[in-house]
Amino acid sequence: MDTATALRNPVQEQTLDPDNWESMRQLGHRMLDDMLDYLQHIRREPAWRPIAAEAKQFFDTDVPMLPGRQEEIYEDFRQFIAPYPMGNIHPRFWGWVMGGGTPFGMLAEMLAAGMNSNVCVGEQSAMYVEQQVVKWCKQMLGYPAGASGLLVSGASMANLTALIAARNHHTANLARKEGLQNMEKQLVLYCSTEAHSCIQKAAEIIGLGAAAVRKIAVDNNYRIGPDELEQMIINDLAEGRQPFCVVGNAGTVNTGAIDPLDELQAICRKYRLWFHVDGAFGALAKLVPEFAASLKAIETADSVAFDLHKWLYMPYGVGCVLVKNAKAHRDAFANAAHYLHQFDRGTAAGPDSLGNYGIELSREFRGLKVWMSLREHGLEKYAALIRQNIEQAAYLARLVREYPDLELLAPVELNIVCFRFVRPGLNAGALNDLNREILLRLQEEGIAVPSSTLLEGRFAIRVAIANHRSRMEDFDELIGQTARWGHKLSES
Ligand SMILES: *Cc1c(COP(=O)(O)O)cnc(C)c1O
Repeated sequence: MDTATALRNPVQEQTLDPDNWESMRQLGHRMLDDMLDYLQHIRREPAWRPIAAEAKQFFDTDVPMLPGRQEEIYEDFRQFIAPYPMGNIHPRFWGWVMGGGTPFGMLAEMLAAGMNSNVCVGEQSAMYVEQQVVKWCKQMLGYPAGASGLLVSGASMANLTALIAARNHHTANLARKEGLQNMEKQLVLYCSTEAHSCIQKAAEIIGLGAAAVRKIAVDNNYRIGPDELEQMIINDLAEGRQPFCVVGNAGTVNTGAIDPLDELQAICRKYRLWFHVDGAFGALAKLVPEFAASLKAIETADSVAFDLHKWLYMPYGVGCVLVKNAKAHRDAFANAAHYLHQFDRGTAAGPDSLGNYGIELSREFRGLKVWMSLREHGLEKYAALIRQNIEQAAYLARLVREYPDLELLAPVELNIVCFRFVRPGLNAGALNDLNREILLRLQEEGIAVPSSTLLEGRFAIRVAIANHRSRMEDFDELIGQTARWGHKLSES
């Protein structure tokens, strides 16, 4: 026995790679074929189906201690998991604001998973792909080339990241060094009552508290009132508080309203406030010439948050935050550690660590699906699809207006339509109950998946179209079925 052998532990070493690569390869090909078949024929499936009790029981089993057969595990996926998606890959899914992904995007995800990159630091291709995708994101929105940016899990994280930069910049990083307890004045942030709940959540997370969020009233078009905003800022200043940031909506989640961004921008300049735009889905409407003017102020905003998994139809989850002042962005997050030292050669070289621009350190390779998808279709195609969704929303609004028993509940500016079934003689509460029931029937029957909201106390069936698979006739079907259920339920 030589020394090396003697020093080695005689126990057989193990690995997680397959014993039989050939059968793994076969199974992999089958999975790919099955999934492509499923996507190709998704229109035949119900838009949603309730999860069978048997499947739910299956999700209740304990942690497996011993190995299972891959084929069997995949069979369970086919039986218990695949049949019960959210529905957002379906042509008649218009709930919340959700994108449907694409087959090529799925393949890109598979490639990224194979590389298993940790895209935080290093001289590795993924770092350059992400850099290029951020550059493309700036170009999409006409944002300054010198701005910094980061791909994150979604718009909630993008908004949070931007607000941290805003808070730290405004306090000259005192918030970073000492926390908020030594702050002389309470920091205050402004948005409209229609701002997404993640803005308040971000304010809570970064130590400002919900009380620091001023929610300004909106007009009949669900847009923020700039005069009320300015008055509120003046009051806060007079009472010794410190306004620091205004969040404008480029497409509100309820109705798709676009705040008067120019006016918000002007107020921010006047009072030296950070101007942030939450453009989770709506920012991308800037690609459509009709919206270029109302969204132009995004180009000069201090920061903007938007999603690529909503209106750019990328597989979940990927959003983007852009910050005009790259130094302020970096100063808000950068820190140093010996184990993260960057060299100018070797594996630890490469672009500036992405950990200096956000919360995460280890990061998945989110950029690849964006990089491959944008190259697959080109930006013009995405612009055409966004316009198509906007036209579909306008078409649906016309159908609602023309149908005697349906009522439009909010102006349709972008891709969101809020409406309800009406029945003379029913009071407000009964109408809300009726429309909730109609919505649930549409979902449970697998016809379509709108979601809901409450607009001035009125229950709205809410259709948000960020779906490249929807066709005009899908909206005819929605209207027909809504009316059918409305009559059936109100006459029984
Ligand atoms: C969806 C949405 C968000 C949150 O985005 P996530 O990707 O779900 O984190 C924030 N703001 C608006 C306006 C949205 O529509």
